[in-house]
Amino acid sequence: MARKGFERPERIQFNDDGYELDTLAVRAGQYRSEEGEHSDAIYPTSSFVYSSAREAAATFGGDEEGNIYSRFTNPTVQAFERRIAALEGGERAIATASGMAGIMSLCLSLMKHGDHVVCSRSVFGSTVSLFDKYVSRAGIETTYVDPKNLDAWRAAVRPTTKMFFLETPSNPLAELTDIAAVAEIAHAANAKLVVDNCFLTPVLQKPLALGADIVMHSATKHLDGQGRVVGGVVVGRDADMEEVFGYIRTAGACLSPFNAWVFQKGLETLPLRMRAHSEAALEIAQWLETQPGIACVYYSGLESHPQHALAKRQQSGFGAVMGFEVVAPAGEEKAAAWRFIDATQMVSITGNLGDVKSTITHPATTTHGRMSAQARAEAGIHDNLIRLSVGLESVEDLKADLLRGLAAI
Ligand SMILES: *Cc1c(COP(=O)(O)O)cnc(C)c1O
Repeated sequence: MARKGFERPERIQFNDDGYELDTLAVRAGQYRSEEGEHSDAIYPTSSFVYSSAREAAATFGGDEEGNIYSRFTNPTVQAFERRIAALEGGERAIATASGMAGIMSLCLSLMKHGDHVVCSRSVFGSTVSLFDKYVSRAGIETTYVDPKNLDAWRAAVRPTTKMFFLETPSNPLAELTDIAAVAEIAHAANAKLVVDNCFLTPVLQKPLALGADIVMHSATKHLDGQGRVVGGVVVGRDADMEEVFGYIRTAGACLSPFNAWVFQKGLETLPLRMRAHSEAALEIAQWLETQPGIACVYYSGLESHPQHALAKRQQSGFGAVMGFEVVAPAGEEKAAAWRFIDATQMVSITGNLGDVKSTITHPATTTHGRMSAQARAEAGIHDNLIRLSVGLESVEDLKADLLRGLAAI
């Protein structure tokens, strides 16, 4: 992995082969300069210099390896890409300006006018807007299906279908999709399966090992984990990623070196954080289920979850995010949910999630507020539904805060 101008002993660079996930999270893909820094350097530079006109020409022409311009490559960004690729078990990763930029890049680099997408109807709201308002303008149509229903995936396939897209568990109702089964259907149709792995991360779910072709992340969520910066990444085979890279370097939806550095630091603690989030969330979900003010809890770690067996099979943990419905008389649902949220003192009232700080929101009037009332009802986003992303505070303090909410319904 030696770079132009630097010849360093192997010992300074880390070779990913044969290491466990916890080790890769800390060490994979690090790029050390000739200074031999122990931590990761940031390269806040737009362009790179050459020792001669000949070297510049050779680098621009692709005959010599090297950086040209940070819209194309940047050492800090590449270090993050190598690390997340190692964690997901993919050949190559391409970092993007945001999670949405990642999805847009996949659509415009891997499909063309006339192609077709089959998408779970339980995906992130902006993903639906992106497909319906913008990807559609490129002549690429999308059909939405119930992600739990394998026959619906099969039935939606057209001769022009090129991509399947899903997110599991879904937000905020924790509906699961059987990744291996949907991958089989996609491959039988000669389509690629893309999985948005934002909620579980490679620590708790490895879509590529289950047969998916591409994984994407809003790195903004758990990969950073501390709510600091926006970014995204897509991971997959070299050939597909080369297409995405070509699109990004041309269209410019690239990640900044500073944000890449923040994500690189985030990945170092990702395994520890995801296990702690999962453990605390399971305890909170089980406890909420026993509270008289709670009508139901949506969390794949609960025995009462209709797809708990699938969760145990395809995930190694259940993640930070859950939904729950408060008990409220007819017509009072929204008011009761708002009273619950307003009575808490510690958890942050915000639409974000996957943070070390617990966050709470009322989906019907925030994240899903732009849907019509009928579409919300069909999607199961009821007015008494609250979404909680469990952070890393003390579980006892969290329960005490949620008890304030319960007392206020
Ligand atoms: C936040 C989010 C996105 C979008 O990512 P940005 O970084 O905000 O662009 C996509 N998918 C899921 C599941 C998300 O939670």
